[in-house]
Amino acid sequence: MKIIVLKFGGTSVGSVERIRKVAKIIRSYSIKYKVIVLSSAMSGTTNKLINMSKKISKNFADHEYDTLVSAGEQISCSLLAGQLLAHGIKSKSWMAWQIPILTEGKHKYSRIKYINKTKVLKFLKIGGIPIIAGFQGVDKDLNITTIGRGGSDSSAIMVAKFFKAERCVIYTDVEGVYTTDPNKLNSAKKIKNISYEEMLEMASLGSKVMQPQSIQDARLNRINIEVKSSFVKKKGTLITKRKNIINNKIITGISSTNNDAKVTLLGVKDRPGIAASIFKPLSHNSINVDMVVQNISSDGKETDLTFTIKSYDLNKTKKIINNNKKISFKKMIFDKNVSKVSIIGVGMVTTPGVTFRMFQALAKKNINIQVISTSEIKISVLIKRANVVKAIKSLHTEFDLDK
Ligand code: ASP
Ligand code: MG
Repeated sequence: MKIIVLKFGGTSVGSVERIRKVAKIIRSYSIKYKVIVLSSAMSGTTNKLINMSKKISKNFADHEYDTLVSAGEQISCSLLAGQLLAHGIKSKSWMAWQIPILTEGKHKYSRIKYINKTKVLKFLKIGGIPIIAGFQGVDKDLNITTIGRGGSDSSAIMVAKFFKAERCVIYTDVEGVYTTDPNKLNSAKKIKNISYEEMLEMASLGSKVMQPQSIQDARLNRINIEVKSSFVKKKGTLITKRKNIINNKIITGISSTNNDAKVTLLGVKDRPGIAASIFKPLSHNSINVDMVVQNISSDGKETDLTFTIKSYDLNKTKKIINNNKKISFKKMIFDKNVSKVSIIGVGMVTTPGVTFRMFQALAKKNINIQVISTSEIKISVLIKRANVVKAIKSLHTEFDLDK
């Protein structure tokens, strides 16, 4: 029989009533498949645990953090297994150390490297439904580790990989992936099929349905993912390889961010290596620079340089720039009221004129573009934050996503 992996997020198992519902969903799959379940902690639990650690100490030890925050999954998994057992279904909860799920890397941000299948396979063979704790693992010395916030998505993908599951279903509190944030635009439509590459862009550009790392894991391992709601019985979104998708739309989705800040250095002495001198200390301080533009200097002596960062990094960035003895500039200005709006679609690879259509649509709405960046399947523009909804709306119509 084929194996399917079902993953339930925090809100899906957020209460005892919800766990009852989820048990029914699991049951419905068990007729056709051998089911492996992964669960996140009940919603709110992980945050609560983290807050407690912060009250103990601002520098709560990383290995104790992992032991602490991984506890949330133990609760939800045992409740879920207990519910299935109460229905007369053979089930058992498994913490990562019992399997084991081996990780490598640092505490708090470990990565799953290997999953021992022996015990779980044995249990599947006798008709059992294993309920596996997401988010956690053990390192080679059997210390408990976790794999980063939202990591149970990644756990599910890796389990699907090692058990060669036919697919991985991510149950969450939204019906799937939308063309744009339905909270910003009510004509947003559920996407039927989306490629890993597009989904990666959407996820890292602010659409929060799945953790970006987990999509990368799925892409590398060619795992088909279905994202759907555990609250309503409706078809979700399939995330799969490009080849499986027939799509007549050029653009698949539009995303926006709301925590960008723009920094401009005016009158920077223009000489080779100047950009490196500006960005090196930022990168050493883990400040992620996103969009960059440098004006061509008219006199060959001075230039203006603009870049974007996350707004929570702004104060740190100002300090680093002001303390940087290797650069000289006339003035630094910044703007916290900017947002990045991006159109994403593999269709743009083969379709000319997409950039022009985007800029024209924005121009028609009198929206000024401040910075532009592009990749093979994405065009991003930085605009005034107050214009975001207007921009999304006009682009959504321009690229036929309303229908
Ligand atoms: N419970 C963990 C968290 O809240 C993992 C997850 O939800 O995926 O980050
Ligand atoms: Mg989650």
